[in-house]
Amino acid sequence: MRTLGSRLTTVRCATALTASGWQNNCVVEFDASGRIQSVRQDTASAVDLCLDGVVIAGIPNLHSHAHQKAIAGLTEHRVSGQDDFWGWRELMYRTNAMLDPQQLQVIARYLYIDMLQKGYTSVAEFHYLHHQPDGTPYFDRSEMSARLLGAASEAGIAITLLPVLYCRGGFRDEPVQHAQRRFSNSPDDYLKLLEGCHSLCAQDPDRSLGFAAHSLRAVSPKDICAVIEDAGELLDNAPVHIHVAEQMREVNDCLAVNRARPVAWLYDQCEVTDRWCLIHATHVDPDEQVLLAKSGVTVGLCPTTEANLGDGIFPASELMASEGCFGIGSDSQVCTSPAEELRLLEYSQRLSLQRRTVLVPDGAGSNGRALATAAITGGNRAQGEHVCGLQPGARGDLVEIASDHTEFSGRTPDQILDTWIFSGPDNPVQNVVVGGKHVVHDGVHPLMERASASYRQMVETFNLA
Ligand SMILES: [Zn+2]
Repeated sequence: MRTLGSRLTTVRCATALTASGWQNNCVVEFDASGRIQSVRQDTASAVDLCLDGVVIAGIPNLHSHAHQKAIAGLTEHRVSGQDDFWGWRELMYRTNAMLDPQQLQVIARYLYIDMLQKGYTSVAEFHYLHHQPDGTPYFDRSEMSARLLGAASEAGIAITLLPVLYCRGGFRDEPVQHAQRRFSNSPDDYLKLLEGCHSLCAQDPDRSLGFAAHSLRAVSPKDICAVIEDAGELLDNAPVHIHVAEQMREVNDCLAVNRARPVAWLYDQCEVTDRWCLIHATHVDPDEQVLLAKSGVTVGLCPTTEANLGDGIFPASELMASEGCFGIGSDSQVCTSPAEELRLLEYSQRLSLQRRTVLVPDGAGSNGRALATAAITGGNRAQGEHVCGLQPGARGDLVEIASDHTEFSGRTPDQILDTWIFSGPDNPVQNVVVGGKHVVHDGVHPLMERASASYRQMVETFNLA
């Protein structure tokens, strides 16, 4: 039997969404590093794997905090007074305070396997839990990063590690709070961490490295620019991520201190290019919308988390109208299904605009295909992958939707994608290939049972009180 570690050479897809549309009987050929070498129509050659369903490129998850899986669903009890993002954050900090490296790896391994089973094939891990609970760095500063990378390798998901810079407690350079000690680094210490992470990612084609600033609250634009410059080759053309304008309180604080809204202020202070991924950007005005589209950034939308935390609704229809770019992320892990994220993204626009099929361009037809294609393009770009989809040069990430599901009977491939996203039968993801490795077999990851047993054991002994 093939192990998770071995890469396939060829896969035949009965029906696949290629760069030139739906094609039948495609053979996808991978090189030794798991990149797609060719996609050709071929009914005769022997192949390593046959996929009889509907195959699309894997969907990237461009924003994840693995450790937050431990509190997903635990913050739904009503507290007195107004419950909001900031109350949720206090509960999240309490969990953060306790996790050790081994526990983080157990959580991440289970989570990443679950993501694969739902159709995500890569994850951008926005990682800020760097130090020991009292804020002392681990002997190896990249200990926690190594645990996340290890979990990704065990699961077989491609990962872009984004070690997060966190320097201060607010826009006025306040010191970090007690609960934020595990996150904080000076720019110099951060560069040491980045060096460690760089060596952990080098030589592995399924790992890559990027830069993240937690937010404009937590890092000044001056420090963001200086660190990117000082990192030099460590961040050569690497993606740059930042949380921005998620909550109105952040917008108001930024206006009070800097007399500018966060997105406008970021563009004023930093050179924001298409390397950048702005996470949430929920509260943008029309002028800021123009900046997003013109600069070519990816907007990282996390619809279920944004709904869960009461953030607000990002004006995605306006971004699409100005040919801007977005991808999706699981963020706080209240949902690990790309189909559900895309459904809520479209539905939030419908509810606010009182229209239907909002995020599909005129003449493009299938809403499901448009949403999946946008998320594949934006999610890859946000991870530094500029060639994506089923075409030569892209990483060999494939997701098969089981077309023999009863609810897909008599439907075209476009209608199957529409049904998957908008009418959600039980998870129809059948087989998943990442970088040429066959990681989900007939709906199940071979390590899921073991990973969920250790996850269960860990959380049952984990005291959140
Ligand atoms: Zn986040």
